[in-house]
Amino acid sequence: MPIFEYACKSCGNEFETLVRSGSAPDCPSCSSTDLEKKLSVFATAAPAAESAPSAAGACGTCGHPGGPGACAFN
Ligand SMILES: [Zn+2]
Repeated sequence: MPIFEYACKSCGNEFETLVRSGSAPDCPSCSSTDLEKKLSVFATAAPAAESAPSAAGACGTCGHPGGPGACAFN
């Protein structure tokens, strides 16, 4: 969900707000909707490491992080 940063043209207040599609943000200070969008950042930057497989887990016998059976090679 995107976070947008706005500057209120009525009172000069600057704020960030989550914007859902279909709803217009308003100034939390004066409730004006006369806003200038300054920039947008994303609340959650998707971590690229999430695609790394981790389902194997540690060896159930010894806890070796190499996975099941890894301790057999020691
Ligand atoms: Zn305002």
